[in-house]
Amino acid sequence: MKNINIGIDLGTTNSGIAKYDNGKISIYKNPVGFKDTIPSVVSFRKGRIQIGEKAREHSATNAENVFSSFKRKMGSDEVYYIKDLDKNCSPIELSSMVLNELVNFAQGESLKSAVITIPASFDTIQSNATKKAGYQAGFEEIVLLQEPIAACLAYSNSLNLEITEDKKWLVYDFGGGTFDIALIKINERELKVFDHKGNNFLGGVDLDTLFVEKIICPKIEKQTQEKNLWEKLISKENTDYNKLFFELLFKAEEAKKELSIKETSSIEVDFDELSISLDLDITRKEFEAIIKTKFEESFHLVEKLIKDNLLTFSDIERIILVGGTTYIPYIRQQLQERTQIQVETSLDPTTAVIIGAAYYAGSKPSELIEEEIVKTPQAEQNSIHAETIYEPHSKDSEELIVVLLTESFDGYYRIIRADGGFDTGLLKASKKIAEFVPLLEKTSNQFTLFLYDSQQKQVFSNDSIQITNGLYSILGQPIPNDICLELDEESGKSHMEIIFKKNDILPLKKTIYKTCSKNILKNSDQKLIINVVEGNAGSMVGSNQSIGYIEISGRDFDQDLVKGMDIELNFKVSESRDLSIDVYISALDLEINEVFNPHQRMISIDKLSSEIKNALDAVTEEIRNEVQNENYEYLAKLKRSEESLSILYNEALENKNDAITDKKYQIDELKKIYIQEFDDIIRHKHILSELDEYNKIKDSLSFYIEKGSPRQKEEYEKIIKNEKEILQSNNKYLIRKKNKELESLLENIYNNQDESYIDYFYYLRFEDPSVFKDRSKHSKLMQLGEKAIDNSNLTELKSICHQLYNLLIVKPKRKDDFNTFDGNLGIK
Ligand code: ADP
Ligand code: MG
Repeated sequence: MKNINIGIDLGTTNSGIAKYDNGKISIYKNPVGFKDTIPSVVSFRKGRIQIGEKAREHSATNAENVFSSFKRKMGSDEVYYIKDLDKNCSPIELSSMVLNELVNFAQGESLKSAVITIPASFDTIQSNATKKAGYQAGFEEIVLLQEPIAACLAYSNSLNLEITEDKKWLVYDFGGGTFDIALIKINERELKVFDHKGNNFLGGVDLDTLFVEKIICPKIEKQTQEKNLWEKLISKENTDYNKLFFELLFKAEEAKKELSIKETSSIEVDFDELSISLDLDITRKEFEAIIKTKFEESFHLVEKLIKDNLLTFSDIERIILVGGTTYIPYIRQQLQERTQIQVETSLDPTTAVIIGAAYYAGSKPSELIEEEIVKTPQAEQNSIHAETIYEPHSKDSEELIVVLLTESFDGYYRIIRADGGFDTGLLKASKKIAEFVPLLEKTSNQFTLFLYDSQQKQVFSNDSIQITNGLYSILGQPIPNDICLELDEESGKSHMEIIFKKNDILPLKKTIYKTCSKNILKNSDQKLIINVVEGNAGSMVGSNQSIGYIEISGRDFDQDLVKGMDIELNFKVSESRDLSIDVYISALDLEINEVFNPHQRMISIDKLSSEIKNALDAVTEEIRNEVQNENYEYLAKLKRSEESLSILYNEALENKNDAITDKKYQIDELKKIYIQEFDDIIRHKHILSELDEYNKIKDSLSFYIEKGSPRQKEEYEKIIKNEKEILQSNNKYLIRKKNKELESLLENIYNNQDESYIDYFYYLRFEDPSVFKDRSKHSKLMQLGEKAIDNSNLTELKSICHQLYNLLIVKPKRKDDFNTFDGNLGIK
């Protein structure tokens, strides 16, 4: 078995490729200019497709034919119209062109497998879109790796750090288009991301855009007749202005980089179409003033991440800087001053991810079945069967290789290390062979095992024994969001039940049992809907993303599906983020299996506005309900939430005519962050009230349960068995469900008690007589009832109560009406 060995950083702005070879990483250089990376830019001109540096150069002068930052739209339905080809290209296609270009750097090598990095916050759809780009570029196997893990692998492996105790690091990755912050736990050998936050629409490009809007536009307006220049630049009305926009953006980026090393920079604007010809001077101070808000956006996420994990900055040993934007001195200095943590800058922030990807690739076995192996004489020659067992990652200087033979064997074995530094020579073999082999430090060691018969003729060989020494490996990759199943609720709405929690480690597997919440007749058009969504389990279903959707229609059934039948569901998420769902309904013996790798989502600015409006309404209502409670701290939080949402709502409304910038995606990203914050604020309160309710019902039950039947007692035990887990789950739906179960048990016990009918009789007695059908019968029953109570004849009283109940014109709703509701989805 071979390892993947090839690592690729497919960045928003820059991409690169590197190879792992015996513990060493080499970056494949761009043959043009010998740089480590190429810009992730594609241009189409006169039948020519250019990728990288050349394409980027065209972006200033020929913007409409040049495409960049498409990684930010990975997984969206956005397409780019390519005039030159008269066709549309998706972000996936453009990314695959960049990957193709990178593969060209490895001249002559045939690359079939690669590790490609993704931001830790990439959801399932974005991850799958990245994989798809890899396959389109001709790879047969793609393994995804989260960028902060890659950066840490690069850092810990290439700096030869000796870590002897558990440490926590922060990876602060401010790149060209995305911002990511991750908390890493590291011990002497393994790394683990234990939480992260990110904004897929916060990066260096946004600083460039702000540079144009807030510095360059006002300066031009001051020196020319131009008015409302920024609005003109981004509106689709006038292409000359659009052209100017891209030229200014290009120059802004150059000036921004210069300001990282100098105090001042200048920009020359020569734009004949609009007769603008100017020289502008910009100072580092001016630049710092406009990027403050963007830095604060990033720092807000840093603080939140620390707080959410109940940590303080002093718990963090160092901050590792990744991404070109972290070259900006203001950012380094702010981070240092405000956290007082050691800010680590010794690694090149623009290649760390490439290097880390290659380290990971060097430890990851390829699962491709290589044709050569199947056909090799080696396998054919193997006339006996032997199983080889060893630990592929080791930090020791030697490691044990065990070989198990299925039958007794009278012959010899030999183990050789590929570099020639170790050879056992011929040794007498037995049914079980155990050999300690020495390892070269901080590299991968390859060994070959040979078996010979008693005449010393080779009968077996295995050259794929690989043991890596001393390199850090990762403990697995966490999922960035909860993955939930949508279920019916009595109100007619739906809620989400967690299948996999944020930060659970891939790959994942789970089986759950649910019940059918409506009747679906065979051959009918009624449907059972299985909807798996990704997002935040505590928040509104609508603010999440559907990643697996199955509709099972009555037409698929041979028999009716009846309310209450069991539905068994199996969920799996592979390390590469494929979701598979198996649905099994045993009563119908119906099984449905589907694998999803969704790679597209839709963003409509109208839908976005209405989602923000819904959230805003919910906050406003919560504030109205809370005003009299005088809980000022809670109210202040809600007010802040209301304010952010209402600013965002106005931005969404104003954005309707913006066809050029990425604003829509930024709004979508902020929407998710704000709704999550609001959920966090109110969740606590809702959970408290559910917990309160739980304790109340349980109190009454502990009094009544003595009177219950043995079966009811058993049921009680069953309900409270996993009570601790549920009460600590922080999930109001789970607690509410428990409450319902307890409540209905309490009601059943209560209704079965004869004494309960005394209460019930008095309740009916104080009802207005007009609610009963037959007045004379009513008054007669009332008299009989009084008498029965006087005589303590409870059996008689019970019968009277039933008769009275039947006289009621409108029957009160029973608590267990829940059982009679029909769900929309058909599953609860
Ligand atoms: P990505 O990971 O998104 O592809 P990179 O890590 O390569 O991005 O960072 C690219 C971003 O870094 C760009 O926005 C670029 O303008 C910015 N950048 C690169 N060098 C500097 C610098 N010296 N000072 C400020 N910004 C820089
Ligand atoms: Mg990056």
